[in-house]
Amino acid sequence: MTKKQPSFDYLNCVSCGICAQACPVSALGMRKEGKSGKYRNLFPELVREGCIGCGQCARSCPMDVIKMEEVEKLMRVKILPPHGSDRSGLDERSWAELPEGSTVRDALKLIRCSQAKARLLLVSVNGERCSLSQELHEGDVVGFFFPVTGG
Ligand code: SF4
Ligand code: SF4
Repeated sequence: MTKKQPSFDYLNCVSCGICAQACPVSALGMRKEGKSGKYRNLFPELVREGCIGCGQCARSCPMDVIKMEEVEKLMRVKILPPHGSDRSGLDERSWAELPEGSTVRDALKLIRCSQAKARLLLVSVNGERCSLSQELHEGDVVGFFFPVTGG
C-alpha cells in the first residue's frame, strides 16, 4: 500500500517557510540545515509523522520545490526475536517499521532468521499462537520462541 508524501528538490528553495506554514498538521518544519549560494540556511523537511498527503505544501511553494510522490505506507510492530538473531533492523525497544500488509514471515526476514532455525520456532502475535502467513497490523507484538522441552 502506498501514500503520498512531499519530496524536496532544494536547489531552488529560498527558505521562505511558506510551505511549513501551509501544512495543516504541522508535519513540516524549517529544520534541515544546508547551504544556498554562500549562505547557510534552514530548509523544510518532514519533522514528525502525521503527514496526510494533502499536497498543500507543494501547492503553496512559490519556487516549485516540492513534488508529491508515492511512498510505501509503513506500520510499526514490536518484534521479540529468538536468542542470537540480527537486531540491526530493530530499535532499542525492539520496534521495527514494516510495509503495511506485511506478515509474520516478513518480520522473520527482518531479523535474518535462517530457514532451518525458522522451522523450529513457535510464533505468537499479541500473545496468541499463529502461523507465518498471519498479516500484521500497527502496534502488534510478534514473538518468536523455541519450544520448551524436557519433562
Ligand atoms: S502533504 Fe499536507 S500534510 Fe503532508 S507535509 Fe505537505 S501540507 Fe503537510
Ligand atoms: S515554500 Fe518552497 S521555497 Fe519556500 S521554504 Fe518551502 S520549499 Fe522552500
